[in-house]
This record gives sequence, structure tokens and C-alpha cells, in this order.
Amino acid sequence: MRSGPFEGPAIVKPPALPGDTYLKGRIDRIDLTKDGKRARVRDYKTGKVLAKPNDFQGGTTLQLPLYLHAAEQLLGRLHNGIQVESAEYYSLKNGKRVGFEGSELKAKETKLHEILKTIVASIEDGIFIAVPGGQCGYCELKIICGTWTEILFGRKAKDPRVKRYLEMLEEEAEESAE
Ligand code: SF4
Repeated sequence: MRSGPFEGPAIVKPPALPGDTYLKGRIDRIDLTKDGKRARVRDYKTGKVLAKPNDFQGGTTLQLPLYLHAAEQLLGRLHNGIQVESAEYYSLKNGKRVGFEGSELKAKETKLHEILKTIVASIEDGIFIAVPGGQCGYCELKIICGTWTEILFGRKAKDPRVKRYLEMLEEEAEESAE
């Protein structure tokens, strides 16, 4: 594999994203085989990695699958037909790696589309709901959410416009626990 800086358009539209929704972000690292046919994405974490492999975790862990799509789209402009085999978190704290395989994502594409559709529809309705949980302990936005998150979540959860979103989180969490 070889690695190095990649300067490309920062805005991409993974096919699973509905409507006129685009994503902007930064991928820490992409490794590419010399023949340009296969690639792997890596995201470094300074703390523990809490994600499960090949799992959307109730729609709360979409970073890796979206990186897979984004990398395929960006690299595909340079290397036609490239396969992004996996996207993984790498903990700098303990060296633990947890990934999402490209082949698994293909099998779960419809589910990803449903999750994104629900999230985007909620945002279009003005619903930006922060869902507190175990991940808050590692979140850099904790200082903004503060101690009010639980109270605000309790209030917003009663709003009928939030219903479909919360149902989706519940359904996904149940599937993830199976
Ligand atoms: S601190 Fe706020 S933004 Fe961060 S995970 Fe918790 S609820 Fe979400």
C-alpha cells in the first residue's frame, strides 16, 4: 500500500444521501494499493473506540459507512472502478481497530438509505436532536451540550415531529443488540 496527501474536492454526495444533501468532511488517512485498484480508509481516535464492526448502531455511527462512500467517489475520479475495501477507526490509546467492510455496506445499503432519509427529513423539519448516551463522555461537543442535554432531550422527545426519528433509533438499536 502507499499513502500520501490527497487534494480533492471536499464536498461529495454519497449515493445513499437523499435529495440535495451533500457532505463536507475530512478523512484522516486513505491507503491505496500501487495499482490503484483497492483502498482503505482510516480514522484516528485519541480515546477508546466504542463502535461495533459493520454496525450503524441505531443510526448513531454513520461516519465509517459515509467515509466508504465518500472515498469511493473521490478516488473513483482518479482510479476508475476502485474498490474501497474498508473504513476503520484506529485508537491511538490502545491500538484497537474497528471497521466497516465495503462488502457489508453493499448488503446494508437500503438500511443506510432509510436512516439517512429519516435524519435528513428531521433536519428539514427543523429537528436537530442531540441524543445523550454513553458516547457523550468522549464527545468534544459536551461543553456545548452541558448538563442540559438530558432535560432538552426529554422535552423534544414529546414533539410528534421527532417520533419517526426516535422510532428509527429504537428499531436500529434493537437490531444492533441482536
Ligand atoms: S455531548 Fe451532545 S452532541 Fe455529544 S454525543 Fe452527547 S448529546 Fe450528542
